[in-house]
Amino acid sequence: MKNSSRRDFLKLTGLGAASLMASTASASEGVKLGENDVGMFYDATKCVGCKACVAACKRVNDMDAVPAPNDEDRLWDAPGKLDYRTRNIIQLYKEDEETWSYVKHQCMHCVKPGCVSACPVTAMMKDERGIVYYDKDKCIGCRYCQIACPFVIPKFEWPKAFPKIVKCDLCKFTNLKEKGIPACCEVCPTEAVIFGKRSDLLAEAKRRMETEPEKYQEKIYGEHEIGGTNVIYLAPQKVNFAQLGFPELETHSYAAFSENIQHTIYKGFIAPVALYSLLTFVAIRNRKKNDGSEDEE
Ligand code: SF4
Ligand code: SF4
Ligand code: SF4
Repeated sequence: MKNSSRRDFLKLTGLGAASLMASTASASEGVKLGENDVGMFYDATKCVGCKACVAACKRVNDMDAVPAPNDEDRLWDAPGKLDYRTRNIIQLYKEDEETWSYVKHQCMHCVKPGCVSACPVTAMMKDERGIVYYDKDKCIGCRYCQIACPFVIPKFEWPKAFPKIVKCDLCKFTNLKEKGIPACCEVCPTEAVIFGKRSDLLAEAKRRMETEPEKYQEKIYGEHEIGGTNVIYLAPQKVNFAQLGFPELETHSYAAFSENIQHTIYKGFIAPVALYSLLTFVAIRNRKKNDGSEDEE
């Protein structure tokens, strides 16, 4: 959609909302863990913190640099957290010389993604391989996906005239398409992050835990959290997942809950039209209010 037509679309309320309902109901309907689901496996004990994965992610996905605070010449890209310029980040947790770990954060590609369920216009979608991706031309900037994500992953381009949501899409349209592997997995020198079928990655994680139980936490993060994620993790024995910034989550998906609400209100027809008109109006008003904001979340 061109920018002008996209702006026109943003002005729509009632009629637009009514037509959007049909696609809303199908955004993540029928999504289940399939044989073909792919994902990533990050083993924190193998990561050396080189950040080659961060640089490669930026390069192939054409992301802007984040200058370091004291870098007046803006020579260095030094992202410290996920934001609209950074889809992938390596951070360090350190208590002492013995108790420390690197950790990689990006979209978890949830089996039942809350972002997909919450998006009223199917701008956030999940493909047949389990990759959760985004269509900027459908997005109305409501940011419900941000609210619905339990991992606080989607970021919004606040400073841009036509902002979009930014998050990892497993290099679906870039490295994965061209080379069959996400850029971060391609460049990692220690294979701390690897790409493959989720079932194979889980089997490999279990094999490592069984082979060297003294090395790892007794848990594969993402195996069961919120119904499972296609990005899974092993952490070192001395550092737990909460310390690495992962929330403790139920094993059921919140997405199913929000879908139930959507489907319940969809049973009536007039009510959804009014509801989505209101939601669209509020989203547009909030977006205008926040234009130019320094908030980079
Ligand atoms: S981690 Fe967040 S953004 Fe990624 S698929 Fe899950 S809900 Fe969506
Ligand atoms: S899969 Fe691609 S987009 Fe996602 S973190 Fe890795 S390099 Fe970045
Ligand atoms: S490229 Fe590999 S070893 Fe280097 S920081 Fe990324 S995950 Fe860690």
